[in-house]
Formats: sequence, structure tokens, C-alpha cells
Amino acid sequence: MSKKIQKKAGKSPPRRPTSRNRTETLRPALEKALRRMPKAKPAKRAQGVGTVSAGNLRGKVRLPETEDGNSAFRIPFPKDLAHLDGMSPLVIRWHYEMEYLHSYAQDSPFFAGLANGRLLGTRCIHCRYTFATPKGHCMRCGEKTRWIELPLKGKVHSWTTCYFGSQEFLKETPFNLVLVEFEGADTLLLSRLVGVGQDGIAVGMEVKAQFRRNAKLLASDVYFVPA
Ligand SMILES: [Zn+2]
Repeated sequence: MSKKIQKKAGKSPPRRPTSRNRTETLRPALEKALRRMPKAKPAKRAQGVGTVSAGNLRGKVRLPETEDGNSAFRIPFPKDLAHLDGMSPLVIRWHYEMEYLHSYAQDSPFFAGLANGRLLGTRCIHCRYTFATPKGHCMRCGEKTRWIELPLKGKVHSWTTCYFGSQEFLKETPFNLVLVEFEGADTLLLSRLVGVGQDGIAVGMEVKAQFRRNAKLLASDVYFVPA
């Protein structure tokens, strides 16, 4: 591509006006136009609300109108305010986006485990209380914990069907959540149970962990299916 450009340049194409020679061409016209313009009065100092007494500003200060954001026209409004009780909700469409830098900090090993098809919990080095949802410190005695590997099979301790969810999961509703209990663990793990309908779920049923092949580093990288 650069060769092509060089070749063209060699044939000396018509000179494009540089900003300098353009200004020179326009200068007489500009000077003429400037001479015709009325002399500008010295600009008044912008007055903020806090700089002048409120009495001077009455009826004179307005925020500038802007063209961005929502545009709304002729929103109906009743004469009798009692009618507002039956007003339909106003709804706007608003694109919301935010970029986070999020550290997994001391939870990092748990997510690295999920990405490798391993389920990690922690165990207190003092009282050996074992957390299926890992904790950095023991909730019983406050001592530090160590990482341990949990079995990939467990039992349904309890479960629920979600008909509503956060934005991310809303389109997947209804879905089933289970609290899974593991051999050797004192606490439970909240996860999704898939591959079985509401009628097929029972407390005590055996379930096994499955992992997303494309890990997203989210707690939903692990989910459960009937064992
Ligand atoms: Zn402990």
C-alpha cells in the first residue's frame, strides 16, 4: 500500500492546499469580513448562582437545555391530581454499560478450580470446620483456612425454582437452584440444577457437578445434574 502511495506521489499530483497556503488565500476575504463585523462588547462575567444575591437572579437563571438523553413531548397530566393514582408507569429505554476491573483476590483459586473441572472448598486449620463455599477464615473460630478438594458428587439439601432473576439470568427463568451438601463438608454450595424438571427434584437426590468447557470465571461455571 505504501508503495502505491509513493508511486502516485512521484507523478506529482495536483498540489493540495496546505493549511498555510489555504489561510493565505483566504486572508483578504477574512480580513474584509472581520472589518464588517460589529465590534464585540467585552463579555460579561459569567454569573454563578453563588456569586450574586438571589434577588438579582429571580427569573433570569436557567440551566441550558440539551439535546441528549431522553426526549419527551406531551406527557399527559391530569387536572385532578387524584387521577395520578391510576397513572401507568413511565418507561424509558436506557443503554447502561460499565466496565469493571474486578479482582478475585483470595477467591482466585476457587475460580481457577472451576476452570479446571475441580471443586474447591476450604477447611479451618484449627477446628477443621469445612466450607463448601470457600471462606478465607473460619466463621466458627476465626482461624485461617486451607484449600481442599470437594467431591464432585453431592446431595440436594434443598432447592427452589426461580421465576425471576437478575438481568443476566432473567431470560433463563424459570430455573432451579439447589443447595448441595457434600460428604465431609459442613456448609452447602448454591448452584444451578439442570437436566431435570421441577417434578423430578427431591431433597436427598444425588447430583453431580458439571463444568462449562469455556470457563467464564463465574460461579455459574459449575452446575449440577442428576447423578
Ligand atoms: Zn475454625
